[in-house]
Amino acid sequence: MCGIIGVSAVPDAGRVAYLGLYALQHRGQESCGIVTLDQSTRPHVQRGMGLVSEVFNEEVLGTLPGDVAVGHTRYSTSGTTVLANAQPSLVNYRGGLLTLAHNGDLTNAVALRHELVEQGAIFSSSSDSEVIVHLIARSTGPDVEHQIRVALERVEGAYSLIISVGRDIYAAVDGRGFRPLALARLGDGIVVASESCAFDLMGATKLRELTPGEFVRIRNGVIHNLAPLPVKPVSRCVFELVYFSRPDSTIFGESVDRVRRQLGRELAKEHPAPGADVVFSVPDSANAMALGFHEESGIKLEYGLIRNHYVGRTFITPTQALRVAKVRIKFNPVREVIEGKRVVVVDDSLVRGTTSKGLVQMIRGAGAREVHLRLGSPPITGPCYYGIDTPTRAELIAATHSHEEIRDYLGVDTLGYLSLEGMLRAAGTANRFCHACFSGQYPVPVDEASDRSRHLSPLAPSLA
Ligand code: AMP
Repeated sequence: MCGIIGVSAVPDAGRVAYLGLYALQHRGQESCGIVTLDQSTRPHVQRGMGLVSEVFNEEVLGTLPGDVAVGHTRYSTSGTTVLANAQPSLVNYRGGLLTLAHNGDLTNAVALRHELVEQGAIFSSSSDSEVIVHLIARSTGPDVEHQIRVALERVEGAYSLIISVGRDIYAAVDGRGFRPLALARLGDGIVVASESCAFDLMGATKLRELTPGEFVRIRNGVIHNLAPLPVKPVSRCVFELVYFSRPDSTIFGESVDRVRRQLGRELAKEHPAPGADVVFSVPDSANAMALGFHEESGIKLEYGLIRNHYVGRTFITPTQALRVAKVRIKFNPVREVIEGKRVVVVDDSLVRGTTSKGLVQMIRGAGAREVHLRLGSPPITGPCYYGIDTPTRAELIAATHSHEEIRDYLGVDTLGYLSLEGMLRAAGTANRFCHACFSGQYPVPVDEASDRSRHLSPLAPSLA
């Protein structure tokens, strides 16, 4: 998953993009970068491994002049954890200087890469995004708009994109609209961001979200609507609302906070925990769900777990051993809330089960009499091929174990997941959603074997 930012016609665009990336840090903590363009279209670049606060400081921001910027925070879904994959990508092609920031995963990237390499293309990274750059550069379209359009008509899967060519910014969302992207006004300029929470920090006023298949050009702070990309059946990613996006964002026309609260209410209806003394969340993504559960059930809401915010997301650590260690430094139970109580613990989702198992052990260690785990989404039984970093099917606990085995493994008294219907009801009727990771209904066909092979080596791994 990634966070992307575009800035057009705003003084000190590098600093504006930096603030936007700060707000989108949750969408990717592996690497980040900003490219700015000054009046003479000269690029200024900073990309690095780590958090926005690690890669940028006052001195670095001073080296990023210009009123046009493209920014990116990355969390690898395809491609490996190396600087070569950090974005924005920056190349020179016949249309001029091109930068590209991509959020999503292409389902036909392996095949396209293979074809391009056969034709003599040289790749410097293993990320999907470089495939798009090559397709644009090779496209025979008469102008930049057509070159991008021809490239995007060849790629399949999920993309929300910000591309600059010269000083123009192009923004596009795939025809199914998997990932969010929105436009806002800032002074005389325009900014584009993955989530609306970025606009608040940038001081921008949200205009609207891009609709599935929408393609726009922003020139000197003016938005030009271009002919849309081929329309496909809409499939917004429901996991953006369940887990990924920030609760202070509005995406797909829905307040993330409101949806999560409703998920908690639905959960309490489907899996009440009669007789429980307290309910609390696994912070932070499930906070609003626990609140909804409390509102519906009347069970007292407490803060039973305190999260150390300086650790980062446990999922991001590459090895299983590190992941286990990180659970202990990330959460600490509040003994006064838990001791002697029958507790309901609300989390948004169950992936590998590692975090939850560690948490349950800690909660029992703090003296809980009973532990009832409630999840605000159905069991995750399949990987995501459209941009969320879920592990392989073999590592997904709900794909390989029965309900009773999982309950036993986690060490909880009862275990309840929200049903698919309940989740979709909470997510609202205004959208059609992709729920492939829960239901196995993949809106874009994928070849599991070839897709996963992309993770193995930094450069064109699937070509062997
Ligand atoms: P686990 O107990 O190991 O299955 O981990 C579940 C936790 O991981 C939940 O608290 C979720 O909030 C979180 N989670 C779910 N999906 C992701 C993801 N794609 N990236 C990072 N964390 C996730």
